[in-house]
Amino acid sequence: MRSISIIGAGPAGLILGIGLVRAGYDVTLYSDRDPEAIRNGFVPSSAGLSFAGQAVEAELGLNTWDDRVQELEGVHFDVVAPGGDLVTTIEGPWHDGPWRCVDLRLKCVAWMAEFERLGGRVVVREITPDDLERCAADTDLTVVAAGKGKISSFFARDDEKCIFAEPQRNISMVVVKDHPGWVDAVGFAPLHYTKMLDVGEVICGTFLNTDEEPAVFLIFDAVPGSPMDRFMHVSSNEEQVEVSKQFVKECMPWEWERVKDMRLADPGAAIRGRITPTVRKPVAKLPSGALLTGIGDTLSTKDGIGGQGLNSAVKSGHHMLKAILDRGDKAFDAEWIQHTWDEFWNSYEQYADVFNNGLMMPVPVHQQKIFAAAAQNPELARKLFHCFSHPPSAFPWMVDPAAAEEVLAQVER
Ligand SMILES: Cc1cc2nc3c(=O)[nH]c(=O)nc-3n(C[C@H](O)[C@H](O)[C@H](O)COP(=O)(O)OP(=O)(O)OC[C@H]3O[C@@H](n4cnc5c(N)ncnc54)[C@H](O)[C@@H]3O)c2cc1C
Repeated sequence: MRSISIIGAGPAGLILGIGLVRAGYDVTLYSDRDPEAIRNGFVPSSAGLSFAGQAVEAELGLNTWDDRVQELEGVHFDVVAPGGDLVTTIEGPWHDGPWRCVDLRLKCVAWMAEFERLGGRVVVREITPDDLERCAADTDLTVVAAGKGKISSFFARDDEKCIFAEPQRNISMVVVKDHPGWVDAVGFAPLHYTKMLDVGEVICGTFLNTDEEPAVFLIFDAVPGSPMDRFMHVSSNEEQVEVSKQFVKECMPWEWERVKDMRLADPGAAIRGRITPTVRKPVAKLPSGALLTGIGDTLSTKDGIGGQGLNSAVKSGHHMLKAILDRGDKAFDAEWIQHTWDEFWNSYEQYADVFNNGLMMPVPVHQQKIFAAAAQNPELARKLFHCFSHPPSAFPWMVDPAAAEEVLAQVER
């Protein structure tokens, strides 16, 4: 029986681990926190998962919360000028199926239990570089799925694939109760996205948090130095909710009624920080010469602006699962590792990365034209929103003005 070590019990590591134990592999999963610490800890993400991402979970029998979480049925996307005037609204359903947002604390704790039930071994330990040597010596393959953990920097930055050297946004997220959502205003449960030009993005939706009751997440992705950039020095999660209200009252007064009564969903229901979008090389060599590879945020870390990191993590865990199974008894050598990553990068991840990064850059004229047309044309709006669910569908028109003109011409025909 082939043996695999996985470092990190986040979604990428658990999707891979559960898939491998189901296939009869001997798998050890290392987690720096025990389930109780994860469940009672900080909320890491708004955890929006596309229909295709949910299909991966369903294939492994992990879609436990489908009936309990309110689906995000489509998108309501406002573009707002710096002074607060509405420039345009684009609205409509997803192209393929709804998104769902289930707290990763809930998922990861349940999935760790499922992994053990299926015969996997969980070791609670923060893995150090020295431990990596031991993992590599004891098992046929070591996969690092440690997200933004320090150990991920064992993999060298891939300068050719990185376009930013520093964070583009200062991020705040709170998960709250006593927020009514937007069904009354929009007519369906939306991913509610407000792009405030030169200021940042406010991204919200309904969410299932650790008490398995509905909540709402609000992300403030602030352009550094803008009026939204006021969260980095708050000293408690409760204060973060109050500062969120204050921002809405001052800069989005049309949303004030919705937020005025909101309160923190649980003590850990807030995060703040900054992320430098980073792509890393997929092969790392230990001093002994043993090789490691990575999945999820370890190899490609993104800002939360486009809801892509979890989707990529789930898909990269699944891609690695299939690659390991297809490899049979052959060696997990550097060529195989590179090929496995190249396949994922070329078919999916490069598009997710460029799409997500593009949301933090000035909107070029050809994209402005697409936005304006999509506001008038439901079919184009559907095509536009499909980019969130399946980023390859944004290409080439997202980066190529001539291709964008072709899309517009098709709409006019
Ligand atoms: C505000 C915000 C909102 C977001 N919203 C979305 C969204 O709506 N949709 C979406 O697709 N993405 C979203 N993301 C991104 C998404 O959450 C991440 O990309 C995703 O969680 C990455 O999964 P992962 O398994 O690779 O890593 P992680 O989820 O970070 O899991 C890594 C695990 O490894 C553990 N670990 C770290 N170091 C060690 C070590 N040395 N030893 C053992 N264990 C270790 C960590 O504790 C953690 O449990 C958002 C991100 C942010 C910041």
